[in-house]
Parts: sequence; structure tokens; C-alpha cells
Amino acid sequence: MRYNDDIERSAEYLRLALPLMSRQAAALTPIAYAIWYEYVAGINPALQTRINELIQGGGVLDDDQTVDLFRRYVADIDHETVRRVGQDLQKVMFDVSRSAAQTGEKAGEFGNALQILSVGLSDTPDASQIAATHIATLLEHTQDMQGSVATLKTRLDDSQREIEELRQEVDRAREEALADGLTGLSNRRGFDIALTSCLSTLTPGTQAPCLLIADIDHFKSVNDRYGHLLGDKVIRAVAQILKESVKGRDTAARYGGEEFTVLLPNTPIEGARALAEQIRALTENCRIRRLDSHESIESITLSFGVASLHAGETADELLTRADRALYQSKQNGRNCVTVADD
Ligand code: GH3
Ligand code: MG
Ligand code: MG
Repeated sequence: MRYNDDIERSAEYLRLALPLMSRQAAALTPIAYAIWYEYVAGINPALQTRINELIQGGGVLDDDQTVDLFRRYVADIDHETVRRVGQDLQKVMFDVSRSAAQTGEKAGEFGNALQILSVGLSDTPDASQIAATHIATLLEHTQDMQGSVATLKTRLDDSQREIEELRQEVDRAREEALADGLTGLSNRRGFDIALTSCLSTLTPGTQAPCLLIADIDHFKSVNDRYGHLLGDKVIRAVAQILKESVKGRDTAARYGGEEFTVLLPNTPIEGARALAEQIRALTENCRIRRLDSHESIESITLSFGVASLHAGETADELLTRADRALYQSKQNGRNCVTVADD
């Protein structure tokens, strides 16, 4: 867990972060709040050092610098943490809002009591007249107070709504940080997180996960012949086939330029091989049209390496074995699937 701060402490960080945030040129987005929260909490020394370098001598952070800091130093926060920070903030706001409402009610009761007293006194003659005037003034002040507490409560309710929206925005920002912009698949970072999480939650007696690595064959010559834009279209087409071929619990990623990975939790090796074979055939039969005419380019093919996790193996070791199997597929003439046998 990245943040272990209770309500009081996180509220204190909120108070410290707001003035620092508002001093910058960057917009007050959830991303900006995340970096300033970590800055004031003192939990991210690398981020702190970098920010200090950037703002020394009166410099301020702009939007690009803020997003860059978030990506480099904060983006790997886990989903639960994001939820918790949002919930903590929301609880702070809820508590304050509730006490404002209670104060409003108390002021209301006090005001009513004064009113009753004031009416009673104004019915009695002479000396009571002075007391009634004082009470009327008090009543006026009380009503003012009631009005400002009501305004405060409205503002706090608005803030609570805003915090909920911010929380959703942080969730979205995190999803974007782990997604590949060209294809919408997970990016390498997203995949590494999914793989690490899968390996850390293995239960004895269940089927091991399998890993597929696929690489587009002779992709350089596709770019050379048809240009990079068509190359990008090919990458998107392969990604679409992957998306349609994997189930909900599986993770498909664009791991690098024209290289893809698929994580298949709890899957027998024969199932993984069959899926690789299915994706290979779909890709081979997919027709991709040129950008400047209705003609299709020649068939695009994929080579695959498939490996099943060995007991006690690390993520890197599994990736290396799958990669070696992929290399074997390239050696065997491409457009084929090789299962790691070591
Ligand atoms: P092999 O069958 O051995 O994999 O050959 P290859 O040509 O696919 O392999 P190589 O690694 O030599 O070339 C990969 C090419 O992929 C080189 C690079 O320009 C291209 N590439 C990487 N990322 C992108 C991208 O995002 N878009 C486009 N259009 N091309 C990319
Ligand atoms: Mg490659
Ligand atoms: Mg290639």
C-alpha cells in the first residue's frame, strides 16, 4: 500500500498541498494533486528532489512537466491506493459537511428559542422592551449565522461531488498510463503489472499461467514498402484480432513496437498453444487495405513463442523462455507457433 495516512494526516496533507499546487502554472487536476500529495507527505524522495530542482529560483510547473512527473514518479500506484486516497478525501469532506449541518441545526434551534422568548417579552410592558430589543439583535445575528452555515454546507456538498469526480479522473488517468495509445491494449508497464500480480496470487493446486509472445514477421519491409501509417494500421489490425481472441481474465498487450504479449492465467499449455494457433490463422487470413487504394496488401503473419510457468520461476525467466521459443519460430521460417520445451 502506497499511502497509509489516516483521515487527520491526509487532511493535513490536503491543506499543505493546495497552496503549493495553486502556486504552479499547471491546471489543478488529480494528476497535479497526486504529485503534490506525495511531495508534502515526504514519501517519494526522487519526486521531491526533482520538484525542488524544477521550482528552485522561483520556477513553476506547467501542465507538461506535471504530467511528466506523474508518469515518471507516481503512475505505478495501484488501483486500490487510488481508491483509498479518494475515499479518504471524501470521508473528510463528508465529516466536515455533517458537522456543518449539525451546527446549522443547532443555530436554528437557538434562533427559534430566541424568537419565542422575544415574542413573549414584547407582550410584556416597559422594562422588558429593552431586553426584547437586545434579543431581536441577537436573533438577527443568529439568522445571519444560519445563512452562512447553509452556504458552507452547500459548498461542502459541491466539494464532495467534485472529489468524487476527481477520484474517477484519477482512475481514468491511471488506466491511460497503463494503456497503449495506438491500439488500446495494455502497454508494457500494464502487462508487467498484470504478470507480477498474477504470479503473486498463484494458489497451490491450480493450473499455472501461460505466456504468449507474438511478433509481426518482416514488419520492417511493410513499413519500407507502404509507409509508417500503413504499418500503424497493421499494428492496430493485429491488436483487434488479439482483443477479440482473449477472454476477460486474460491480458493482451502491445509489449513493444510490433511485438505483443498475452497472459493466460490458469491455462493448460495445450490451450495456450491452440489460442496462439487461432490468432496466427486469423492474422494470416486478415485482409488489410492500402491507404491509397482498395487493394489489399499481402498477408501479414505472426510468429509465436508460448511458455507455461514453471514452479518457482520469475516473470523475467518466463518471458525469456517465451522469447526463446519465439526466436525458434523465426528460425523455423516464421508464421508458426513454438512451445517452449525447457
Ligand atoms: P522479423 O520477422 O525478424 O521480426 O523482422 P521485422 O522486420 O519484423 O523485425 P525488425 O525488428 O527488424 O523490425 C521491426 C520494425 O518495426 C522496425 C520498426 O521500424 C518497426 N516499428 C516498430 N514500432 C512501430 C510502430 O509503432 N509503427 C510502425 N509503423 N512501425 C514500427
Ligand atoms: Mg520485433
Ligand atoms: Mg518483427
